[in-house]
Amino acid sequence: MTATLDEKLQPIYQDVLHRNPGEKEFHQAVHEVLETLGPVLVKYPEFADKKIIQRICEPERQIIFRVPWQDDSGEIHINRAFRVEFNSALGPYKGGMRFHPSVYLGIIKFLGFEQIFKNALTGLPIGGGKGGSDFDPKGRSDDEIMRFCQSLMTELYRHLGEYTDVPAGDIGVGGREIGYLFGQYKRITNRYESGVFTGKGLAWGGSRARTEATGYGAVFFTQEMLKARGDSLDGKTVVVSGSGNVAIYAIEKAHELGAKVIACSDSQGMIVDEKGIDLKALKQIKEVERRRISAYTEFHKHAKYVEDGNIWTIPCDVALPCATQNELNGKDAKTLVENGCIAVAEGANMPTTPEGVMVFQDAGIAYGPGKAANAGGVATSALEMQQNASRDSWTFDYTQKRLEEIMIDIHKNCYETAAEFGAEGNYVLGANINGYIRVARAMTAMGVI
Ligand code: NAP
Repeated sequence: MTATLDEKLQPIYQDVLHRNPGEKEFHQAVHEVLETLGPVLVKYPEFADKKIIQRICEPERQIIFRVPWQDDSGEIHINRAFRVEFNSALGPYKGGMRFHPSVYLGIIKFLGFEQIFKNALTGLPIGGGKGGSDFDPKGRSDDEIMRFCQSLMTELYRHLGEYTDVPAGDIGVGGREIGYLFGQYKRITNRYESGVFTGKGLAWGGSRARTEATGYGAVFFTQEMLKARGDSLDGKTVVVSGSGNVAIYAIEKAHELGAKVIACSDSQGMIVDEKGIDLKALKQIKEVERRRISAYTEFHKHAKYVEDGNIWTIPCDVALPCATQNELNGKDAKTLVENGCIAVAEGANMPTTPEGVMVFQDAGIAYGPGKAANAGGVATSALEMQQNASRDSWTFDYTQKRLEEIMIDIHKNCYETAAEFGAEGNYVLGANINGYIRVARAMTAMGVI
């Protein structure tokens, strides 16, 4: 880790290391929050007396279970699944499910921990949680995905509920998987409990603009950061990593706001299209055909595909990491800054390493951490829950307007909190402290539970 901790926070961090061995992503996420909480101890000593930070660092409940399933040839596979119900001070546990072979407890705990602060920042009544499995959906048939989802939900259902724990999608979990998961929940419980899952299809309780929300939200946040510096996205060159749900809709909104996205990627390579990424082709490849990004050159011969290419070497004004954790390191950050990048907003969760964050902050560029910049996804999930509770269905324009207002508000709160604590423009500090105070107040009010 790079930055040092306040001496009162050091033992708390040591305890986290000791109690959660080997969970390096979780350690990283906790360290990143603790780095910024020193000044809060001074201003709010009552929270320290109540051991709020220590309680936040310990999940309320962690569920680990076996998921057996059969592939199309009849062979049996055994995966492991997790649901970490981290903190319910502000509302039911809320956070997505991730299906990726790299998933283990440390990844789910880092994501769940971040989710507490992110959800608090939205100002909506949602607590923090996260789940997932080491299942790899790549190359699996629809039937195999369905059998896996049904097996997983056969255990998970007993821990969920619209007032208890409400999952959504994440890496490897999109509309198809949510359909299978929700269907099995409905079948087992005999309840059409729409509010138990978000990211649902429009025909069965989903919200308009939820699919677009995380990517759109990250771009709204970028626009606000630039506005605070008297600038805008109009005419800017943008690079977006990933080509999944978040990346695709970040590209869409960036184009709508007058920027040109010239590169995107997947885990095997990257595409550079100086004319601007053609979204129609990208959606066809990724959302319809579920192919590799390399297929883009079949649509546009002039575009360049680079296998294993490093997308952060491409000069740009704005970088939007939208793939996965720790995908942008200190060296990448230096390259971006040297190439003239003025803003970075994280569509992904914790995509920048601590060294990378330091480079951005030292260079004084606008840097929006995932907790704030990608909160539009979960915020719109909360709007989906509102629509489900009132049996209502809002228009796309109205929902998008609400999303934009929420992102403007999150930016304002982070900005003002950072200024209040003497660190103007430091969105990491602003997001962590603002989210922490909201959770700490609720936890204090509810007593020692
Ligand atoms: P997705 O649709 O599954 O897309 C993920 C993208 O990232 C794909 O292009 C994938 O490439 C790439 N990727 C995944 N793991 C990678 C790795 N280890 N190395 C390189 N590339 C990798 O997932 P998503 O929903 O867009 O999520 C992307 C990020 O946003 C995650 O950090 C997630 O936690 C965060 N996020 C998502 C939401 C949401 O609403 N979906 C909300 C907030 C934050 P391949 O296809 O080659 O694997």
